Amino acid sequence: MALKLQHAKIPEGKLLVGGRWTAGRSNTAMDVIYPGNAEKVASFHGASAEDVDGAVRIARQALEQGPWSTKISPAERTRILWRLSELIGEHADELAELETVNTGKPFAETRNIEIPLSAEIFQYFAGWTTKIHGETIPAKPGMLNMTLREPVGVVGVITPWNFPLLMSTWKIAAALACGNVVIHKPSELTPFTAMKLAELALEAGLPEGVLQVLPGTGGEAGEAMVLHPGIDKISFTGSTKIGQRIMQLSASNLKRLTLELGGKSPNVVFADADMDAAVRGAINAIFYNKGEVCSAGSRLLVERSIKDEFLEKVKGRAEKMLAAQGDPLSPKSRLGPQISQNQLDKVLGYIEKGQAEGARLVFGGGRNTDAGPGFFVKPTIFDGVVNDMCIAREEIFGPVLSTIAFDQVEEAAALANANDYGLAAGIWTRDIKKALRAAKALKAGTVWVNTYNVFDAAMPFGGFKNSGFGRELGMHALDNYTELKSVWIDLT
Ligand code: NAD
Repeated sequence: MALKLQHAKIPEGKLLVGGRWTAGRSNTAMDVIYPGNAEKVASFHGASAEDVDGAVRIARQALEQGPWSTKISPAERTRILWRLSELIGEHADELAELETVNTGKPFAETRNIEIPLSAEIFQYFAGWTTKIHGETIPAKPGMLNMTLREPVGVVGVITPWNFPLLMSTWKIAAALACGNVVIHKPSELTPFTAMKLAELALEAGLPEGVLQVLPGTGGEAGEAMVLHPGIDKISFTGSTKIGQRIMQLSASNLKRLTLELGGKSPNVVFADADMDAAVRGAINAIFYNKGEVCSAGSRLLVERSIKDEFLEKVKGRAEKMLAAQGDPLSPKSRLGPQISQNQLDKVLGYIEKGQAEGARLVFGGGRNTDAGPGFFVKPTIFDGVVNDMCIAREEIFGPVLSTIAFDQVEEAAALANANDYGLAAGIWTRDIKKALRAAKALKAGTVWVNTYNVFDAAMPFGGFKNSGFGRELGMHALDNYTELKSVWIDLT
């Protein structure tokens, strides 16, 4: 049954190479499914290795001979990136609907949170173009040393399906602000907003060839990008497994890498916390975007003295979420389906494994067929989890909360850190000293105190340990997309 959309048309499945939309030459067709009803909305051939090669040739020409990197002023770059942010705002309904169709996120979330945030990212980086500069350094007498900050060159951007537009803007806006040229490969599951973004970028005045979009599969288009000698850097967000693969493949050509990978973040609630605020925080931490969030607070560490009361309240809120789970295109839906059949099976598999390992299911635990024919999983809560269970160690990427009790502050930090990932963490307490001690002790790239999942374009974000390296957003993102050159001048 055809989807009835109010704001958007399903885009034609094409690649933007140079300034032209062309058909992909991969032999295998990619199906795009609406997770709300599990039906196909589009099917097309994505980029082949040959398409990647063609795009790289155009990108190198745009970098070396086009205006973007060296010929136009930084102020003109600001103007174009700012205009793009305005266009994202003007097309917010359409972008939000496309994102919902691709991902199954409730329209209220895409329209009110993710699309406006994507516009803000372009505004923020538009402001940086005129402020990226080197320095002069006191060196030997009779010598002048100065540094130049130059674009890295052609940047391959590879993005995941969980926040398709937002994750793309983190990379593309920063890379373009620094004067780079970008080839973007969105996830094969969620190509629509990447296509729309590229169309709007041309409308904003971005020269042709500066942002190209190659929808395609990871194994074919993604690997071809990683292996291509004409791409100087890969900026990747996705799973740790694929991040490791990309690192291995790029060892041969020493490509620069930024890797934003998975997580299994602890959300630590002390007995002296504002309980209602912490309950709301715990719910938002695990159930926002149906748990398909890299920084999801999927391990709830609660001080034993308040654990039962706390979990009772979390359960009460989860009941309300369950009641509001339904078709993501409906304005009433507050909790969507998982992105795909694969993801549904994976999450259900973990729920079974948790029970088999001896964790106690206190809420949810299974598919929610009442919500519709899509890939809906009930918000699920486990108690009695111990750190060596799979549901405590591995990234589930679904609405499944694993509760672990602790008795002492030091024990909480040790438990929180006893995991291969280190993306984010939450702390809930009224004691500022305890909060700061814990914030220092936690091995995570972001620590939220009395809040969770708050983001801002100016805040650096990235992982410790198996959650990757490099920081996106904020001024530190500029390091990802520039090379520093040292210039010596003899003054004698
Ligand atoms: P994924 O690793 O399966 O895919 C990510 C991207 O890589 C896709 O575009 C895919 O096509 C491509 N890809 C797959 N195989 C490839 C290969 N061999 N070579 C090159 N590219 C390849 O991840 P996903 O399932 O799309 O996304 C979910 C994962 O992303 C989760 O692990 C999540 O934690 C992580 N994530 C991390 C952050 C962060 O900021 N740290 C943010 C969002 C998502």
